Amino acid sequence: MICLGIESTAHTFGIGIVQNKTVIANEKKSYQPEKGGLHPRKTAEHHAEVCGEVLEKAINKSGIRIEEIDLIAFSQGPGLPPCLKIGAVFARTLAKKLGKPLIGVNHCVAHLEIGKLFTNAKDPVLLYASGANTQVIALESGKYRVFGETIDVGVGNMLDTFGRNKGLSFPAGPEIERLAKKGEKYVELPYTVKGMDLAFGGILTQAERVKEKMENVCHSLQETVFAMLIEVSERAMSHTQKKELILGGGVAANKRLNDMCKIMCEERGAKFYTVPKQYCVDNAAMIAWTGLKMHKSGVKTPDTRIIRNYRTDMVKITWK
Ligand code: AMP
Ligand code: MG
Repeated sequence: MICLGIESTAHTFGIGIVQNKTVIANEKKSYQPEKGGLHPRKTAEHHAEVCGEVLEKAINKSGIRIEEIDLIAFSQGPGLPPCLKIGAVFARTLAKKLGKPLIGVNHCVAHLEIGKLFTNAKDPVLLYASGANTQVIALESGKYRVFGETIDVGVGNMLDTFGRNKGLSFPAGPEIERLAKKGEKYVELPYTVKGMDLAFGGILTQAERVKEKMENVCHSLQETVFAMLIEVSERAMSHTQKKELILGGGVAANKRLNDMCKIMCEERGAKFYTVPKQYCVDNAAMIAWTGLKMHKSGVKTPDTRIIRNYRTDMVKITWK
């Protein structure tokens, strides 16, 4: 069975094609604002412009003919509504033209499912740390539950905002990591874990205000926010008695965060897995893969409207 997936929740417009358990194409184009953050309408315009070309590339890469596709899947949410709409309209048009079924996929669930595919983890906790999202997710009683999450911005967006206000290039995560390696001194920043949730606003304000060498601020920023992510992940693992951790999202590119996950898992006798970079960041192969699994388990999407705040725990897990 062949499924074509479409991703368009934020900066990335992607088309992925999965045949049974193999990714045969994973193409994308990402919108890079000249300055500032993502403007939803401009990002959507970018997606509308590139969607045809990304499709063509994906089909060429896959080596199949478009008529051979059995199923179309698309990111139904959560995301920026104008961007989601481009993906949904594109998906509907393609499904209609090919006369194939259409299935809506939750973007966060897809991150977890592709993580499982590439790591062979059976029943993991996912620390999903991306630009817009920060969640700790695991399966319990038939649903992927959010055990902890940010109550303001995603950890990546916080790093990017800090970087933008300090004149670093966008996205700022990699630059902050580079500077942090040269940091020697830890300065206190407001460590904010509330119950199982996280907040980054206060840390951002304080990190911008503190009078200290940039290298030391970057080091302190990383140590503080990553420790918070690790604390919530560890408590979710302890609560659910799960023995596997997957790190996903764009921030997973950070070596220090990986090292901290590794140490925490070793101490608990758990396994730590990372996902290959192209499947860790926003990508459409994860949408195709999850759509395929859902379809095989009998899921249908009668309502293909976008769901802007599509929560992870709104999805009933009918597949293995
Ligand atoms: P995503 O939203 O999953 O595509 O991830 C993008 C986010 O990952 C941006 O906010 C980046 O700043 C962040 N990011 C990328 N590389 C790194 C890194 N090495 N360290 C920290 N954050 C990173
Ligand atoms: Mg994402």
